[in-house]
Amino acid sequence: MGINRPIKVGITGGIGSGKSTVAQIFSILGIPVYYADDRAKWLMNHHTKLKNQLIESFGEESFLQTGELNRAYLAKTVFSDPEKVKKINQLVHPIVGEDFNSWTANQSTKYVLKEAALIFESGGDKLLDYVINVSAPLRIRISRVLMRDPNRSEEQINQIINQQLPDEVKNEQANFVIKNVDNKLLIPQVLKIHEKLLESTL
Ligand code: ATP
Repeated sequence: MGINRPIKVGITGGIGSGKSTVAQIFSILGIPVYYADDRAKWLMNHHTKLKNQLIESFGEESFLQTGELNRAYLAKTVFSDPEKVKKINQLVHPIVGEDFNSWTANQSTKYVLKEAALIFESGGDKLLDYVINVSAPLRIRISRVLMRDPNRSEEQINQIINQQLPDEVKNEQANFVIKNVDNKLLIPQVLKIHEKLLESTL
């Protein structure tokens, strides 16, 4: 292990690339995985300072009477406006960053993984030691998501894709690339990276 901390490894990939699937394989190898997008949702519902900041920026309607995040309201008012998306990210990312750091400090493995859809897009890569990009052609990714989420339309999937950096750019920026295509097995690719990370002298 680095003298007093686990190495921080990001795992990203476009929608439907298979990053959660790959993260699960690392998890089977005993590597703790921080699912940043799920955790961000949890923090928006439970972190008092963040909740207050959301109310200040987007109004009382940001939360339902029950105290739960009003996802429908936020989807309607925030996600259609790029400036508001920027603002919500500015509020949520630092809190997730703090939460990830304290979670990491409690792990005792050589390295930990942070799984997130947007790492390079948010500049989050600068706070990580390495980043793995899970890569797959657009056509395969769209068909996987349509199978997984029958309620989503191809148009909605394309909207998300348009907010993400193209795969080729992420592959160039990443330290490791996992190709999740039908003719390539995932487990040997994961094992190779796992061994390299265990040997890392960071
Ligand atoms: P999102 O960004 O939407 O969270 P993701 O990158 O985490 O997506 P997964 O949820 O891991 O992607 O995978 C998308 C779907 O494709 C899932 O239903 C998963 O089971 C399936 N899938 C992933 N990899 C493969 C594969 N190699 N062969 C077949 N199906 C796969």
